[in-house]
Amino acid sequence: MGIKNNVEKILSEIPEGVILEAAAKTRAAEEILEAIEAGIKIIGENYIQDAAGVYGIVGRKAEWHYIGHLQKNKVKKAVEMFDMIETVDSLKIASRIDRYCEEMNKIMPVLIEVNSGREPQKFGVLPEEVESLIENILHFEHIRIMGLMTMGPRFGNPEDARPYFQETYKLFKKLKEQGIPDIEMKYLSMGMSNTYKIAIDEGANIIRVGTKIFGERKK
Ligand SMILES: *Cc1c(COP(=O)(O)O)cnc(C)c1O
Repeated sequence: MGIKNNVEKILSEIPEGVILEAAAKTRAAEEILEAIEAGIKIIGENYIQDAAGVYGIVGRKAEWHYIGHLQKNKVKKAVEMFDMIETVDSLKIASRIDRYCEEMNKIMPVLIEVNSGREPQKFGVLPEEVESLIENILHFEHIRIMGLMTMGPRFGNPEDARPYFQETYKLFKKLKEQGIPDIEMKYLSMGMSNTYKIAIDEGANIIRVGTKIFGERKK
């Protein structure tokens, strides 16, 4: 096996219309390049510092999505480097993104991160608060809301993640049907190595896979 085989296998198994994003935290540029050669179009990164290193080598051969928790002092760098920020969960962060985008004259596509497991220690906005956050973010001219993202609680048994994906999909669908002007409920990002099949069952159209592409993480 190897990265190339792993990517090809997953790509051959997932339905058309589902995007396989390679979650590449801690991976080297050569590993990322191998994944891209095998057909990966989107790289997800969690840490700005790490991402900057590999970004310098890999460059624009793929699109870059930010999937980590964004700290205030890293927003500028994130806005410079990333094509989408999947983890917007507060008005404060949105407002910073908007400000830097205005300076750089760009519009940032974002997903709203939903804390579908309602875990107090986790990031993301509670499902019942998503709508009001979206309404507030709508005022920012340099942000484009394009969908939802969720992690869901981590379980030993992947099947246990299903209800959280279902709840997030319900919310996604409801918002889509509301047809709120100036937002586009296009992407639903959920599912990782052990849960992506369940996530696809439940309506995900972006899956974020790390281990199943690159192997176990060393750090
Ligand atoms: C690491 C990570 C993934 C992928 O996790 P694996 O279990 O290695 O597939 C997906 N999403 C986020 C936000 C991550 O940090």
